[in-house]
Amino acid sequence: MERENKLKIFSIWFLLSFIFIGCGSSSQSTTANDSKQSKYTFVMIHFEAGYQGRLNNDLPIDIPQEYMNMDLGWQAYLFDTAKKLVQKADSYGFHLTLAFNPQWAEYILLDDAKVNLVKQWQKNGHEIAFHHHSINHPDWNGYSNDPLALNSTTPFLGNVDKGLNIIRNLALPANVTTAMISGLPIDMPQSYEDTSDSLIFAGGNQYSSFAQYGQLRSLKPHKIIKNNGAEVTFVTHRQLTSILNNYTVDEALNIFKTEYNNMQNDEIYGVVFHCYDYLVAEETYNDWFEFIKNNNDTIKTIHEVIADYKYDIPIQ
Ligand SMILES: [Zn+2]
Repeated sequence: MERENKLKIFSIWFLLSFIFIGCGSSSQSTTANDSKQSKYTFVMIHFEAGYQGRLNNDLPIDIPQEYMNMDLGWQAYLFDTAKKLVQKADSYGFHLTLAFNPQWAEYILLDDAKVNLVKQWQKNGHEIAFHHHSINHPDWNGYSNDPLALNSTTPFLGNVDKGLNIIRNLALPANVTTAMISGLPIDMPQSYEDTSDSLIFAGGNQYSSFAQYGQLRSLKPHKIIKNNGAEVTFVTHRQLTSILNNYTVDEALNIFKTEYNNMQNDEIYGVVFHCYDYLVAEETYNDWFEFIKNNNDTIKTIHEVIADYKYDIPIQ
């Protein structure tokens, strides 16, 4: 009888310690070398179209006139910035998610040296993703599934799949299965509707990134299974742009750091910024990389993060 009681007590103790180890927050660990679980985090870079925005002289940052006059001048002006940004991530061994509007793939594909550089980026672990600006965006990329696009004063370039295919050509042999698409549901590429590949859609802008603006987007991913069995996963990114209305980029960075420190085990902290933001405020974005490194975390591609993600992590 006594032995049975001892066993019972031992079992309860064992169960309790398992629960505490399983759900305890890393900040409460008691042993010095207790290895904390690495957080789920990614950085997505949006490469803007520089199409309608350039034609209408309505770009988010000023660029020299010679580039304004040039087809793909936005890309020509910012390509060195893109190189510098990827190099910086490489120096940390971080993997970026590089989301291109079609004009970027078009520009890179014109020059073998640039194509080879992008192949090297992929070898280093970076992911090529799709970014789409619909006709409702001031810098529409010219591709649309909306019949209204035919009436636009900005020349129509084709349906959204046509734009996506240019990025696919650049990413080959890798598949382009991660995207941030505006203008949904109309602008959903038909090939994405039809595919049995698993897809990942990122979402979130400055208005869903700061409590001051209203409801923050949940940091928990969710997925749906399509009729053909394909999984579509939705993930949030917080936008850290240099052209915020109410915050300096450094204030925004500090808000994100606090939120990152307080995130739950089943949340994913994604940050998005634009290639042009890196030109404007390089040090701030480098600070984010340094912050992640100092947390002993690592930035992975969205694809890698979702592959690692466990949907059954107990909620604290
Ligand atoms: Zn964009």
